[in-house]
Amino acid sequence: MIFGFGKKKKAQEEGEERQVELVLFKGALNGKEANLQANAKLAKAGLLPSKQIITDGLSRRAEMIRIEPKGPQAAVTFLVDGVPYPGPRLPKPQAFAVTQMIKLLSGLEVQVRDKPQSGGVRVELEERPYELRVDTQPVQAGERLIIRVRNPREERKSPEELGMTDELKQKIRSLTSGRQGLFLVCGPPFSGTTTTAYTVLRSLDAFLYGIFTLGDTEGRELINIGEAEWNPGETLRDALVRLVRAEADVAFLADPVNKETLDTILRMQEDISIIGEFPAKDAAHGIVQLIEWAGDAGLVSRGVRGVMSQKLVRKLCPECREAYKPNPKILAKVGLPSETKVLYRKPKPPTPEEKESGDYWPCDVCGDIGFLGRIAIFELIEMTDAMKELVASSPTPQAIKELARKEQMWSFQKDGLRLVAEGVTSLEELQRVFKAG
Ligand SMILES: [Zn+2]
Repeated sequence: MIFGFGKKKKAQEEGEERQVELVLFKGALNGKEANLQANAKLAKAGLLPSKQIITDGLSRRAEMIRIEPKGPQAAVTFLVDGVPYPGPRLPKPQAFAVTQMIKLLSGLEVQVRDKPQSGGVRVELEERPYELRVDTQPVQAGERLIIRVRNPREERKSPEELGMTDELKQKIRSLTSGRQGLFLVCGPPFSGTTTTAYTVLRSLDAFLYGIFTLGDTEGRELINIGEAEWNPGETLRDALVRLVRAEADVAFLADPVNKETLDTILRMQEDISIIGEFPAKDAAHGIVQLIEWAGDAGLVSRGVRGVMSQKLVRKLCPECREAYKPNPKILAKVGLPSETKVLYRKPKPPTPEEKESGDYWPCDVCGDIGFLGRIAIFELIEMTDAMKELVASSPTPQAIKELARKEQMWSFQKDGLRLVAEGVTSLEELQRVFKAG
């Protein structure tokens, strides 16, 4: 059986326990062939449960599946849209067989259990291809297995898919035009910063401007955007000088900006517009970080034109989201218009009685999570005259945030509430995301 998920409803409606299609293994990423005959015993114990767990994870749209030994059992966890959900618990011998089986299929050394290994396997479920990146880590009770899911077909995100409005795109275009200044995207690790940086790049008018990327863009498709060769022995400065001579308008740095490269790009930004990314909590903290790296607040205030950051919020499931009439006091408190008639939220979980009664059908579309996929919300701090003056004085992140609010710049709050008003997400989800930092 598949662990209490997915097509259950349909199968029950049809009055039968329907066989659910299981994932197909299409070969290890490193090309190493899994010899199932030589490992017949392992395959007998581990192949079917491995298929069931991975099928369950992919059906739930998990981006990560973790199998971790815990006492006499092993816990399976699915990470869906950044939130962990408990999966089945496996008896230890079965967890061992599953771990070893997935290692074998991923081209890893099955016998090696005391060293971390990395590999992967191609799979297919219902004619959709996926790439699973598999990592093992030795832990006290055995081995932890981490499977990261990539769906190559869903890799390319347009600005609209990512949640960028026309108004924001226009702002970005104006801040990256004129062949000068830095436009930087920042965020905490795994918050989608790189995706946003590429979305910024794709939102530019590639017909109007000469845009070049520097560094490894990892095979991303970029229409009408040139890739500048990095000649051997050339520094970042040399490469940028070459682009300026070739009359390029915009340079996109594929590698994250750090202290050293910031120094270079702050000096080059008078002749070319430069887009890059770097790790920071949010835009205000990012600006403070830039000042610290540069060691000169004036340089940052003059060279940077905008700093953008993003957070990911989960989208309500369109199938099971629940409409409700919002309390006017809450509307006023969060800053939504008082005439807002309806908002949406995830449905309340069933009471034990409802569950028992047999009248409760879990939502097929989202796997009864209430959410389906994620969308980005953005903040953008622009270097207006007042902001330039403030940044030149080496301010605190709080002071930057306050001025951004006063000047009504693009904020997480504003962008998030827009999505709440449109019914894309819920107030509770926004609160969860803001609380997480
Ligand atoms: Zn649903």
